[in-house]
Amino acid sequence: MVKDGSAEGSAPYDWLNHSLTALHRAHRYRSVQAIEGRAGATIQCQGQPLINFASNDYLGLASDPRLAAAAIAAIQTYGTGSTGSRLLSGHRQLHEELEQAIATLKGTDDALVFSSGYLANLGAIAALVGTPDLIVGDEYNHSSLRAGGKVSGATTLDYRHNDTDHLKQLLEEHRDRHRRCLITTDSVFSMDGDLCPLPAILDLAAAYKSMVLVDEAHGTGVFGAGGSGVVEHLDCTKRPLITVGTLSKALGSLGGYVAGSKPLIEFLRNRAPGWVYTTGLSPADTAAALAAVQIVQHEPQRRDTLWRSVNHLTQQIDQILAEAKKNSLGLKRLPSGSPIIGLQISSAAAVVEASRQLQRAGLWVAAVRPPTVPTSRLRITLMATHQPAHLDHLTTALRALANQP
Ligand SMILES: *Cc1c(COP(=O)(O)O)cnc(C)c1O
Repeated sequence: MVKDGSAEGSAPYDWLNHSLTALHRAHRYRSVQAIEGRAGATIQCQGQPLINFASNDYLGLASDPRLAAAAIAAIQTYGTGSTGSRLLSGHRQLHEELEQAIATLKGTDDALVFSSGYLANLGAIAALVGTPDLIVGDEYNHSSLRAGGKVSGATTLDYRHNDTDHLKQLLEEHRDRHRRCLITTDSVFSMDGDLCPLPAILDLAAAYKSMVLVDEAHGTGVFGAGGSGVVEHLDCTKRPLITVGTLSKALGSLGGYVAGSKPLIEFLRNRAPGWVYTTGLSPADTAAALAAVQIVQHEPQRRDTLWRSVNHLTQQIDQILAEAKKNSLGLKRLPSGSPIIGLQISSAAAVVEASRQLQRAGLWVAAVRPPTVPTSRLRITLMATHQPAHLDHLTTALRALANQP
């Protein structure tokens, strides 16, 4: 029996306020700030214009008029809601067109769109494995991959980040005791920006009779000559694997997908509760994503511009850090191979203050703290629509941060 005056308080909801106070004390409290109007390379927040280095809209498509036009046309044709699950009344020709376009982009037989990338991971994993099975995943995997593991009921083990020796050791020890095995990894790690060693993971999967699910949330549209993603970039398109991704990052819309073989997609259509029991993607989101896939395929110059910016900024940051006399914040660039650039800072309090300082200088940069990541950092993301002057503005402010007493 809970007594009056216990630490949690007497009323059943008192613990909420205690938890919030604890979050504030640990500098882990989070809040939202509204962006006014369209979010492009520049944004407006509380009347202040800011250069946006916190977006996942790598190609700048979320504010592209062609996506908006496609969404508006779809609303006019189909209305705003898809009105039911795909198996009942929610299926439209548009969904099929998008799924075909994704399969073509990915070089797979087929694809299936979900209401979000989060749900695609949850739905696919929970459908593919169950209690007799094993999931071995990278310790830095996205929250949705972990959630999928939990929901599935499978035994889940983490291998050390990008450590294929450790992965091999876990497979060697545990694989035989389970029916199926699924190896899961982000292709681009969302908070560090580094890439997974996919070819080595696929070799181990073949040796240990395991499936591989790779999350291309930050790879699609950004990597590969055709914009397909890291799977293409690392020349693994022809190998057996399950690709998951989102429509909400480089594709500038909302939703997620699974791409792979015909039997895989057919199975998910029958057995993934996160697809069967939820409403079909809205016509506007579907049409916008379809327009985005076409742009990804036909405008490689967007990727070229993006990668030029990534290389330029990385060089600039390294130079700033090499020349910094003080670096009292302990700034350190985390290893990355993508438009996500992490600048580690000594403490959670310091990273929040640094992000505020950048905001006063007209820059929007995310402060990411534990428990999302093991170490606090500024997370800078680049877009194809950033101009050289935007990057100069950022490097000037970072130089000031690195040299402050
Ligand atoms: C953003 C993200 C997701 C979730 O995608 P949503 O469409 O935003 O739900 C899944 N995996 C990774 C690695 C992500 O970064």
